[in-house]
Amino acid sequence: MEEMAASVATAASRSGQVHIAIAGGGLRATSVLRLLGDIEHLSVVAVYDASRAAPAVRLADDLGIFTTSELSELSQIPELDLILDMSEEPSVRQALEAQPPANVEIVAGCGAELVWDLLVAKKRSEEQEKIFVELQVAYDKIRSHERRLQSSKEALEQANDELESRLAEIFFTHEFFKALTSYSSVDDVASLIVDGANGILGAEISAVYLFAQEDWTLRLRASQGRPEEAFRAVVPVSETLLGMAFRDGFAQEADVPFGAESARWYTASEEIRSQVALPLRSGESIIGVLLIASATYRELTSAEKERLQVIGNQSSLALQNALLHEELERLSVTDRLTELYNHGYLQQRLEEEFERAARFGHTLSLIMLDIDDFKQYNDRYGHPKGDKVLQAVSSIIRQNLREIDVAARYGGEEFVVVLPETDVAGALAVAERIRKSMSQHPFPSHEGAGPVTQTISLGVATYPIHATTPSRLIETADKAMYEAKRFGKNQVTVAS
Ligand code: GH3
Ligand code: MG
Ligand code: MG
Repeated sequence: MEEMAASVATAASRSGQVHIAIAGGGLRATSVLRLLGDIEHLSVVAVYDASRAAPAVRLADDLGIFTTSELSELSQIPELDLILDMSEEPSVRQALEAQPPANVEIVAGCGAELVWDLLVAKKRSEEQEKIFVELQVAYDKIRSHERRLQSSKEALEQANDELESRLAEIFFTHEFFKALTSYSSVDDVASLIVDGANGILGAEISAVYLFAQEDWTLRLRASQGRPEEAFRAVVPVSETLLGMAFRDGFAQEADVPFGAESARWYTASEEIRSQVALPLRSGESIIGVLLIASATYRELTSAEKERLQVIGNQSSLALQNALLHEELERLSVTDRLTELYNHGYLQQRLEEEFERAARFGHTLSLIMLDIDDFKQYNDRYGHPKGDKVLQAVSSIIRQNLREIDVAARYGGEEFVVVLPETDVAGALAVAERIRKSMSQHPFPSHEGAGPVTQTISLGVATYPIHATTPSRLIETADKAMYEAKRFGKNQVTVAS
């Protein structure tokens, strides 16, 4: 066996190729012929079998390899290195070994068996290698699928995050629009708008300026993001980005030049790095400007611009309503909450009563009253309950008046009563009655808790002894009222 390997090695080194003849044409020989065909450096140069119909002989014919049915012809093949006896016929082996050709190795019996086994093993290992390579390819494919899955998972998570923040924004927007329609004072609506700009667009700084026709200026009504003093309260329509938006519509500066005039609606204008202004319209006319700004570079995307536009449209509608409401309030005579006369009407009536008193030489008294610690009540029990207190004060006042007296809600929680033909003593008595009924009136507190009391302080002033003009009369009564507060509240003070 070693000899054989050595001679094959020498043959291979001699010509680079080992030439083999196969003796025997059976099925094994056919397989060997095929298997050897796959091996470099080995070539089968001849096949012998006594029968020309043997399968290996036929295959060799097909492959163009020399075939023979004369065993002796094998020894005449030039440069033959090895004869492999696959015949399993002792006569063939005997014939070969009886006259061995020179320089030709004969492999038969166990040797041939071994060659067969080696070839089969080689084939098997090649197949295993092929399977291994296929496995490697499949594994790589799985890895790349895995990577793709991972990246789509990340994309999905990102999309999910975006969706969540969009949802929060939609929720906020919904609440914002709902609130817009439920607020009726201009200041409340303006404050809501700047909060909306912050909540929906993430505006670092925002402000609402309203147009004042009397002097063609824009006046600050609400702001957010910086202390109110940092905003200019009044900006002429010819100035800054506010003016640009007022004249030409939507205006944006994503990168404000340092110290630009356009940012001078802000006292520390060098701080402003980007700004956007949107006119708030009511039909053809502009009622104000919504401004958003920040200390960093920012350019609104087209989606953000659209959102700003929607905020602007809804806000304009609400503002328009609030302005209308304010105007109606101004034009009307009564205060809606208390159904007493309002401030404007009181002024007018007081002048008339003054004239009459002066003409007929009558006295005329005025009571100014203010709820004590009302802010605390509101803070504790809420604004709606506070409104109920205001209504109760109004009905207590009414119960204590004559036909000719005039009662008005003078301001938030301040009331004025005008008592024609009444002197100090008479006015004091009325004031004291009102104070007393008020101090005995039960007011609701927290759910389930008992009622609380709510007192008032009152000031009395009389024409002509304390004042000789309507405005002085109010002022003097007001001062007296503050004296009552100073003395400890829940009392009446007459002007000195
Ligand atoms: P003082 O005893 O010194 O008068 O203290 P005060 O808390 O009553 O006075 P302050 O002027 O600090 O607060 C007045 C409060 O009145 C603040 C405001 O919330 C409340 N107020 C004004 N108008 C209304 C209103 O229409 N409804 C309600 N519920 N509260 C109002
Ligand atoms: Mg007050
Ligand atoms: Mg008060």
